[in-house]
Amino acid sequence: MRILALDIGGTAIKSALLDGFGHVLREMETPSEGKRGGMHLMECAKAVIDEYAGYDAIGISTTGQVDARNGRIIFANENVPGYSGMQVSRILEAHAHVPVVVENDVNAAALGEANFGAGVGERDFLCLTYGTGVGGAIVIDGRIYGGADGVAGEMGHILTHPEGLPCACGQRGCYEQYASTSALMRRAREVEPGLADGKALFAQIGERQDLQAIVAAWVLEVTYGLVSLTHTLNPGLIILGGGVMRQRVLVQAVRDQLYPRLMQSYRGVRLEGAQLGNQAGIFGAYALARRALEETK
Ligand SMILES: [Zn+2]
Repeated sequence: MRILALDIGGTAIKSALLDGFGHVLREMETPSEGKRGGMHLMECAKAVIDEYAGYDAIGISTTGQVDARNGRIIFANENVPGYSGMQVSRILEAHAHVPVVVENDVNAAALGEANFGAGVGERDFLCLTYGTGVGGAIVIDGRIYGGADGVAGEMGHILTHPEGLPCACGQRGCYEQYASTSALMRRAREVEPGLADGKALFAQIGERQDLQAIVAAWVLEVTYGLVSLTHTLNPGLIILGGGVMRQRVLVQAVRDQLYPRLMQSYRGVRLEGAQLGNQAGIFGAYALARRALEETK
């Protein structure tokens, strides 16, 4: 069995051909220019597919909210105009003539971690990604929990500061306005305007007490959302992803703040950093397609 996995983003399409054991046989990355629209993105995906041969199914991880039951984009923002409503699986099946399964990129990353990364051996866990916003996925019994409409897991819009900062979703005080990497950098740049990114921040933090205080306050913001989620879902594991969480000292700092805030019976939850980095989507798309093939046998 061979599977072609695509991770479709607004700026690039990552792709890989994998065998039945999850070994990457070949991979590439292609610019996607999502700003040119959903149709253009699909043409790019077809061109990527044409670069490969000998696969039995295609797994897709994509930007946007996805109805995984029928492979349709429910909603995509202005980064890919006209992508909303697009029947991705139908379009690509007509082109490639093999089964195509589609999942949202945050959910796909969670499935990647579930099968090949920090979630191995855990059936029920949460995966949160800290970046421009905060993305989330709920994995129950090894599968993504989609909810009534397939869009469960928008942890970034939990209200942690009612009447606080405005959010693109229309609410005020959403978790991601305080706990995202963007929020951290916004605060850090108030005292150090020249900071390029999180890496630059953590390179300086050793001798800067003001930056240390900002990071400590941000760790608390991260923790607030996790307290609510842990008490709601009683997960066995929470995986913290996003580039900033590669600073493993942060994962430990969140642990230190989280456990004292949990009721005793919830303290069995483990907190781990994501392991697959930006490859998680590819491995999740692969896992999804492999399972779809196995279930049709
Ligand atoms: Zn919001």
